[in-house]
Parts: sequence; C-alpha cells; structure tokens
Amino acid sequence: MHLARFPRLFLAHLPTPLEPMERLSRELGGPEIWIKRDDCTGLSTGGNKTRKLEFLMAEAEKMGADIVMTQGATQSNHARQTAAFASKLGIKCHILLEDRTGSNDPNYNYNGNVLLDHLHGATTEIRAGGLDMNAELEAVADTARNGGAKVYTIPGGGSNPTGALGYVNCALELVGQANDRGLVIDHLVTATGSAGTQAGLIVGLKALNANIPLLGFGVRAPKDKQEDSVFKLARATADKLGISGIVDRADVAADCNYVGQGYGIARSDTIEAIRMFAELEGVLLDPVYSGKGAAGLIDYVRKGRFKKGERVVFLHTGGAAALFGYDRLFSGSPMAEAAE
Ligand SMILES: *Cc1c(COP(=O)(O)O)cnc(C)c1O
Repeated sequence: MHLARFPRLFLAHLPTPLEPMERLSRELGGPEIWIKRDDCTGLSTGGNKTRKLEFLMAEAEKMGADIVMTQGATQSNHARQTAAFASKLGIKCHILLEDRTGSNDPNYNYNGNVLLDHLHGATTEIRAGGLDMNAELEAVADTARNGGAKVYTIPGGGSNPTGALGYVNCALELVGQANDRGLVIDHLVTATGSAGTQAGLIVGLKALNANIPLLGFGVRAPKDKQEDSVFKLARATADKLGISGIVDRADVAADCNYVGQGYGIARSDTIEAIRMFAELEGVLLDPVYSGKGAAGLIDYVRKGRFKKGERVVFLHTGGAAALFGYDRLFSGSPMAEAAE
C-alpha cells in the first residue's frame, strides 16, 4: 500500500495533535482517555472531511473541473469544508442541502455551517428530507453538464473509496504518533455517519496489522445497516489500494444506541457530553456527530466496558461550527445544573 500513488492536495494541517484528556479521565475514573484532534485540520474551523477532500479535490482538479457539487444535511460540516476547499482552488461550489430535521429555527437554517457555506461563496439549494440525495445531486450535475460545465460530484460526506483514503492516512498517522511516544492504544472510538472515516481507518489499521479495535458510534442508521455500509466501503477502499481481502466483516463494529430520535436530534446525554468536554477539556464537540460519539464513550467508561489501566483514543471529527445552528440546546444551565 502506497498512498503517494494517489493524487492529493496537501491542504490539511497535519499531523493533528494527539493529546491526553486528563481532567475528563479523572472525572470518569476509568481508562486513560486521549483525543486525536481532527477538529484541528485547519480548513474553515476544521473537521474530518478535510482529509477526505485532499484526495477528492485532487481528482476534481485533475479532471479540470470548474465546479464541484456535493450534498448534505442543512448543517453539514462536509458541505462547509467542501465550499472552503473549492474557494482555495478557485473552483465554484454548489451544494444541495437536505432538510432532515424539519426545524424552522432561523439559526439552524441560516447560521453555523450554512453561514460559512455562503461566506465561502458556495451556492445552495434545499431539498425535502428523505430523498435519495446522491441521485438528486447527479441530476443537478447532469443539467449543468448539459449546459457545458465541467462538474465533479462528491457524494454525501465525501464517502467513497477516494475520500476514505484520507482516513487510511489518518490511521497511519495515529499509529505512528503512538509508536513514537510509546503509547499503546487499547481502543479507538469515533462517530460514524456516511462511513468513510470508519472505513478508511479500518483499512489503515488492518494494513498495519495494528490490532487496535475500532468502534464507531452511529449517528443515524441502525447497527446492521451502519456496519454493512462501513464494510462495503472498507472493502472497496482496500481494492483501490491493491490490498483486497484484508478487511473482515468482524473488523467492523458500530454501536448505534446513542442516536436517540434521529439524525441531528440531540439527546440529554449528547448535551451532557458536549458540556463535559467543553468544561473539563476546553474542547468543542457538536450535537450531531462528535457529541453522540462522546456520549457513547462516556457511557462505555461508566459501564466499565473501557477499564482502568486501558488507554482509549477518541477521534474528534470536528463539527463545532454547527453549535451556532443549535444554540437553543444550551440556553442557560451549566453542566452542574443539567445533571440529574
Ligand atoms: C461527517 C462527520 C462525521 C462522520 O464521518 P463519516 O465519514 O461521514 O462517517 C463525524 N463527525 C463530524 C463532525 C462530521 O462532520
């Protein structure tokens, strides 16, 4: 496996820091918890999509695209990072935003990531929730192509084998950092959505034979569906890298018990996790992804599934820009008052 064989634009601030979370670890009294700061990838408030876009946007540039098109939920972090990357390259960006929550909160609909999409010069159009958004995207792209545009389309979350290469790279980076510092990683956990992050990590970890179990905390789909989509993408990513067959179905683990009512709808444990990270570590999570991933992590520690003496790494995938679209969740009470 040799990632340098694939076109890539080196725009992310890498390597992202790997840091201990001492106050959170002490508060929970279980394992040593570390954080891999992929919220610090540098592009327009950072996040995990930047690593994927290094490979995706290199393909766009190589094909001579004059516009990239992608899709996501209203407060999509992927959309915002794509818009920022496109502006850096001088390529136009058009985004289809899916109204998955039905919220009519003006901050949800215009602030946070939506504000940043527009600041980066992207154009947006809205779709009702529940459509096949990648099909909607291709239809809009085809119309533009018929008008003579050179369009590069990026699927939701940048999750295809090209985008997943960014997280193969992250696995190499993380294991390298741990090796250099003599840190044994017993568990790696992260939020999982459109699957590219988890799929890429699995392929990288397997290629290194690192034997680090990876658990994805789901944010939308039920467990079977989530694991199937991660497995399918991991296999396709391994094929792309010429290491077919290194990923087994048993390597894919997702826990989707922290989703709550649905995508983009925070639960009380999501909010508690956001407050704990903010108050104990000065780290901002988001209510859609990293807050749910962190809620899963905290619950696993409390239930003794991650134990004293172990070391757990939480991959922070970013998303804090969405907080400004969800400000209502945090009106008033600090952590102490919110705890039951
Ligand atoms: C997109 C996203 C995820 C999920 O990553 P996938 O590769 O889509 O599974 C997690 N956290 C944040 C903040 C994201 O924006």
